[in-house]
Amino acid sequence: MPITTINPATGEAMPTEWETLTPAQVEAKLAKADEAFRAHRRTSFGERADKLRAAADILSAEKDALGRMMTMEMGKTLKAAVAEAEKCAVACRYYADHGERFMDDEPVETSASRSYIRYLPIGPVLAVMPWNFPFWQVFRFAAPGLMAGNVGLLKHASNVPRCAMAIEDVFRRAGFAEGVFQTLLVGSDAVAGILDDPRVKAATLTGSTPAGSSVAERAGKRLKKTVLELGGSDPFIVLPTADLDAAAKTAAKARNINNGQSCIAAKRFIVHADVYDAFRDRFVAAMEAETVGDPLRADTDVGPLAMKQTREDAERQVRDSVAAGAKVLTGGERVEGPGFFYRPTILAEIPESAPAYREEVFAPVALLFRAKDADEAIALANDSDFGLGSSVWTRDAAEARRFVDELEAGMTYVNAMVASDPRLPFGGVKQSGYGRELGRFGMHEFVNIKSVWMEDEGPDEHPAAE
Ligand code: NAP
Repeated sequence: MPITTINPATGEAMPTEWETLTPAQVEAKLAKADEAFRAHRRTSFGERADKLRAAADILSAEKDALGRMMTMEMGKTLKAAVAEAEKCAVACRYYADHGERFMDDEPVETSASRSYIRYLPIGPVLAVMPWNFPFWQVFRFAAPGLMAGNVGLLKHASNVPRCAMAIEDVFRRAGFAEGVFQTLLVGSDAVAGILDDPRVKAATLTGSTPAGSSVAERAGKRLKKTVLELGGSDPFIVLPTADLDAAAKTAAKARNINNGQSCIAAKRFIVHADVYDAFRDRFVAAMEAETVGDPLRADTDVGPLAMKQTREDAERQVRDSVAAGAKVLTGGERVEGPGFFYRPTILAEIPESAPAYREEVFAPVALLFRAKDADEAIALANDSDFGLGSSVWTRDAAEARRFVDELEAGMTYVNAMVASDPRLPFGGVKQSGYGRELGRFGMHEFVNIKSVWMEDEGPDEHPAAE
């Protein structure tokens, strides 16, 4: 079947360049992954690191062209897309530099003459990825994964086939052997069959909670490990001692990042009653100052939503929330004309019955709540099915520690917006998923943690000269 994609800034179809894979082609790629793993796992960390550095060099050298490709396929601003390609290069270099250390044997004292933990690669890992950060989501799985000795099979979102093929090409040109990283151009209906295949050892999915649940169910049936990075409705909490100017400016940025389509975008703004009015006015001004328009222009802050459906979903959530009693402080409507643009929006006085109270809003729509004190702010923040990131604004150190301990989230950033950093584990709790990507924890998700017991180590490999 031909793959058709639409440029979200114009609403026009882009030239069709690919067909989805036939079952026979999928089979050939799985066989290749299996074969490639046998050789890749035996390569040294040094060899893998050299190839990751070569991938980083390609990403850095070609970031403008790769960025443009992302913008055309999913609408993020070109400046953000170019920065995304560079961030992937940083991650490749980071795992080239540190990956071997993360995989080092760990000695454990027992009654054996020597015992230790060894981390071994497990084989081909299927990565089901979303379109919103079309390069970064893939590289944050692939850079540590290939360094660990696994091989990657990418099933990317159906609206970003060019990015999917370009990523495979980057790894190939970097020198990774044929089959070490392959893109499978298939629809989501092919995922179950791929998960069933015994050559696929594990899966990671970044995407919506329903997609994660469906992949976890299927993988669970086959007893294959999964890591799930799912949706979020992150709280951004502003307390009386906060720097309100900085908080409001960052709030607009944190809500509108990636045109409002980030799992870790701040979505629920929970503001202490003492500073509610002052923050609200600053926040409205900051949202209204954002430039909405052509994502290729350097002065654009907010481009289009990625798909017609994405905008329609947001419109429904805003319309139904207003019908339930929510108030629009700014925005609340699409930008008329070609493309899938939507104005940065703030909703306030949102009742519990409104869809925006419970659902993730994947668009530049901020939800503003008033909390009478810190207790109520924590209760409101935790009154969500999601638990991905959280951001707290306070200059009171004891208060900051309390929020760090009590917020039900995989990440808490104090006086800063949530971002994923190649050096820190990334992931959520509750319906935001489980497992971690990045850092040492992320690298250890898809390894065989082997306990080694040596009762008698045998003769010394290098006996001293007599
Ligand atoms: P999505 O519809 O769940 O799609 C993500 C990926 O899953 C795509 O490759 C999609 O393929 C595939 N997929 C969808 N349904 C599936 C199923 N039943 N079985 C197997 N695969 C399936 O999500 P999206 O709309 O692209 O992305 C937005 C969501 O991702 C938001 O909820 C966002 O918060 C979340 N997200 C989370 C993180 C994180 O790190 N926690 C990061 C980014 C995004 P097709 O495109 O072919 O349908």
